[in-house]
Amino acid sequence: MTAVLFLMSGLGLFCAILNKTRGLFFFGGVTLAFSAIIAVEYISGLDFSIDQLFLEDYIHPETAHPGRPAPNTVLAFLCIGFAEILLGLNRKRQSDIVTATVEVIGFVVFVLGAHALGGYIQSVEIAYAWGTDTRMSIHTAISNAALGFGLLAISWSSQSKQIFKVPLWVPFIICFLALQVDLVAPPEIIASIVYIPLVFCSVWFILPRTAFTFAIIATLLAVLRYLLFPEVYMTEENMINRLLTIGAIWFVAILVFWQRVIDRKLERSENYLKSILDHTIEGLIVTDSHGTIKNYNRACEKIFGYTADEVIGKKVTMLLPPYYRKKYKRRIEDYLVDNKASGMIAMDREVEGLRKDGTSIPINVGVNEMRVEGERFFSGIVRDITKQKQAEAELLRSNTELERFAFVAAHDLQEPLRIVITSTDIFREECEKELSEQSLEFIVHAQNAAKRMRALIKDLLEYSRIDNEYQGCEPVSLTEIVNMALENLNFDIRKTGAQIQVDTEMPVVNGNPVQLLRLYQNLIGNSIKYRNKDIPPQIHIKAKKDGMHWILSVEDNGIGIEQEYLEKIFSPFIRLHTATQYPGTGIGLAMCRRIVESHKGKIWALSTVGKGSSIFFSLLDASAELSE
Ligand code: ADP
Repeated sequence: MTAVLFLMSGLGLFCAILNKTRGLFFFGGVTLAFSAIIAVEYISGLDFSIDQLFLEDYIHPETAHPGRPAPNTVLAFLCIGFAEILLGLNRKRQSDIVTATVEVIGFVVFVLGAHALGGYIQSVEIAYAWGTDTRMSIHTAISNAALGFGLLAISWSSQSKQIFKVPLWVPFIICFLALQVDLVAPPEIIASIVYIPLVFCSVWFILPRTAFTFAIIATLLAVLRYLLFPEVYMTEENMINRLLTIGAIWFVAILVFWQRVIDRKLERSENYLKSILDHTIEGLIVTDSHGTIKNYNRACEKIFGYTADEVIGKKVTMLLPPYYRKKYKRRIEDYLVDNKASGMIAMDREVEGLRKDGTSIPINVGVNEMRVEGERFFSGIVRDITKQKQAEAELLRSNTELERFAFVAAHDLQEPLRIVITSTDIFREECEKELSEQSLEFIVHAQNAAKRMRALIKDLLEYSRIDNEYQGCEPVSLTEIVNMALENLNFDIRKTGAQIQVDTEMPVVNGNPVQLLRLYQNLIGNSIKYRNKDIPPQIHIKAKKDGMHWILSVEDNGIGIEQEYLEKIFSPFIRLHTATQYPGTGIGLAMCRRIVESHKGKIWALSTVGKGSSIFFSLLDASAELSE
């Protein structure tokens, strides 16, 4: 019977390894059923005549129950059969509690075998003979220990490590060894102190209260001998001795519990932070002051193609193309040498990143310095701007195409227009006497329209040329530019009696002198043109520093602009007056906006109708780098 049960339970374990659930249920079930019947036989004293079902026992015919496995062997089979059924149930839906139970059962089976074996070695009969004349034989003891070990190994391999970080059998082995030491040590020795390592094992378990579970087990084991043989061991000295060690065990358990609670809190907040970082859309990289990557979130994995494991601990320069590496290193080194307080190092900087597949990718980076316990770290927010760059390139392409079209069209229209104007001039001169007054008026109308069209085309040409003309920038003194503009407008200024006041501190800015001259000339020209008829124009040209920028303005006391048009006037061909009221094409301010924007600045207007208007624009100071 023992051999059959070993065969069944062994095959069950094979099924567990091969993931055969039905086999597990079958072999585990058979083992459990037979061992349960034999257990009932032992407990009830009945005989169901299954002991010699397979074979007549001729080796021990003289024993009380020939052919029946020993009680401790039956207990081991009961445990194995039950564990195999549990393993079968656990295949579909993994439960950590079930896995842990299988682990405990495995340990019990192992201990039953190991204990009996120890009994044979030390000649302690009670260890292998439990009450009856049927004993667990040496080979059965070895097989039980092996099966127990098998169960331990199987349950460990299927653990998800949610409850504990080490196999359960480690504390159990400690527990077993400690018990052996405690049992053989003379009672006067504080041998139960060896259970303290068992309590320490609870640091490997996820739940802090495991410390108390182990403390309870340690307490029970420590008093086991005294409960079993009270009359021999329960002396006053021994009891004080034991109480002190139990006190020590619980003290350690409380300390471990406390520490685990703190650890858990830390782990939780760490996990919380990690999941925030992992779920942010922006990439985040943290490096130490040597450029070694410490943190790298999931968004970065998408941007660069490297996983966190592949980059953490490596230099951040691996994510930059070779030509950027030196520049980056220099920047960080300069920063560290400067020894500034923590803060922003770079904001919204467009650079290139290097992907795992070797391609480069446009990214926008913001780098910040932070200090943790005196150590300096750099955190970088990384954004993939491939799409934005593509859209910009597409916009540039279509704008360039449009400009080219406008330029060609305007250029080609000029010639036929010139012929129309000169031909009507000649026609008017030659036929003036023969034509009626009304016909002459028509010709003048046609000529005026043609001239207006010529002015429009000229402005359109200038407008489309702005970007083509813009080739880099140089430091330009705005005092000189404004003086030139005033010189060009000298005739209008004198004619209207305009008073012009220019700030003494006009700056030097980065820009294109030709375009800046056109800008000032347009703005001052408008202030003169849109003057109040009754009072002479007063124009104030101002400059004010604002960080790396200059806020410049041309302010007048003219007719003003209505609030709703303050934005619209910067669009091409938007005019608020007819050509007879105020001559013009409506392109001047559109041109100003293009000039300012090509200098990476902004332009806007403020006005009070009847009182005057102010046109503001910003330009970078000459000391600022335009293209970083
Ligand atoms: P244009 O002067 O050829 O009409 P602009 O683009 O220079 O074209 O100006 C657009 C419109 O903005 C003008 O028609 C005018 O109504 C208004 N405007 C521009 N500058 C001033 C100003 N300094 N004061 C009042 N209105 C102005």
